Amino acid sequence: MKTVKVSVVTPDGPVYDAEVEMVSTKAQSGELGILPGHIPMVAPLKIGAVRLKKDGGTEYLAVNGGFLEVRPDVVTILAQSAERAESIDVARAQAAKARAEKRLQDRQDNVDARRAELALQRAVNRLSVAEGRI
Ligand code: ATP
Repeated sequence: MKTVKVSVVTPDGPVYDAEVEMVSTKAQSGELGILPGHIPMVAPLKIGAVRLKKDGGTEYLAVNGGFLEVRPDVVTILAQSAERAESIDVARAQAAKARAEKRLQDRQDNVDARRAELALQRAVNRLSVAEGRI
């Protein structure tokens, strides 16, 4: 089966490198499915899950924004943060979710509200990726 190399890179270093059969993710313009040989493109990503079809299974990553760059044989995701499902600390994400929800309740101004909303989205995304609810 044809494959495409996927690299997920964050400011903390590489998070994922493998040959996969398909990459699916959430771009700002909508859901994207990339197969080997896809035409070159660049797309901004949302906070969301990346699904990687590999050896008959599916692997999941939680990705926080950034960009997807597609070339026919390589897909690169440059994200502010990214975690493989199995390395997500669920208790930490639950605590971040509770903190963000509290900030949204006690909100002082719109800047704080926007920050809290993004923190909440990151936490909810991590929880759904870690718990396989994608
Ligand atoms: P927190 O408030 O728990 O720090 P956050 O959403 O503000 O969450 P980020 O700024 O997105 O955290 O990420 C900072 C670093 O911590 C990144 O390297 C990210 O991969 C890692 N990280 C954040 N939350 C988790 C988690 N629940 N499990 C594993 N790694 C995490």
